[in-house]
Amino acid sequence: MDKKNKISCSCGSCQLFLNDSLPKYSVMCACEDCRQALRWAEINGGKKPKDILYSVYFRSDIQSYNGIENMIATQLRGDASSTRIYCKKCFSCFAVDHVNYQNNVFMIQPDYCKQNFNVRIPPLAVLNLQDYPGEFAELDSDTIPVFHSRKYPQERKRFLSIEPISEYLTPPKTPAKGTTIREIISQIGKIRVLDLIKGDNLEELHNE
Ligand SMILES: [Zn+2]
Ligand SMILES: [Zn+2]
Repeated sequence: MDKKNKISCSCGSCQLFLNDSLPKYSVMCACEDCRQALRWAEINGGKKPKDILYSVYFRSDIQSYNGIENMIATQLRGDASSTRIYCKKCFSCFAVDHVNYQNNVFMIQPDYCKQNFNVRIPPLAVLNLQDYPGEFAELDSDTIPVFHSRKYPQERKRFLSIEPISEYLTPPKTPAKGTTIREIISQIGKIRVLDLIKGDNLEELHNE
């Protein structure tokens, strides 16, 4: 029988087993960086990115993992705040770290990797709509808080006031029992900086 609480890439070469599989919160993200990162993966064999991405957060506490030799850690640019872990073989992105997550949580976009447990909870906010490529973003709810950007302190304050988000964007109160996502990133070794131009949707790379 398959071990529980598994997040894996689509080919199964990379696997993470969580100690705590309860989703902490989720958001819908329309930012150009998430899309560009998945677009880069698509060029390499991954799945086509949607314009708005369901993104869910788990404790950075991994009981065990397989396939570290098949994992690559990437950043979009030298000044990046996010580090994304992909499978070298199928280019699924199955874990994302960001400086603000403080190694308390990490994020996954479940449409771009596989899970054998429930990862769907109602999103608490729609983020970065200024980057949405279309005319009008169709949202599932008309009461969900929306954020055009999080550039202004008022927006960041409003975002952090949504329970329980701020609790998970501070250093963890209870240490991880297992391996943290940052420990896995450091075990992967060197982070590959992709040096992609901000906002470029990589059409040209595709044609080459
Ligand atoms: Zn894979
Ligand atoms: Zn994003």
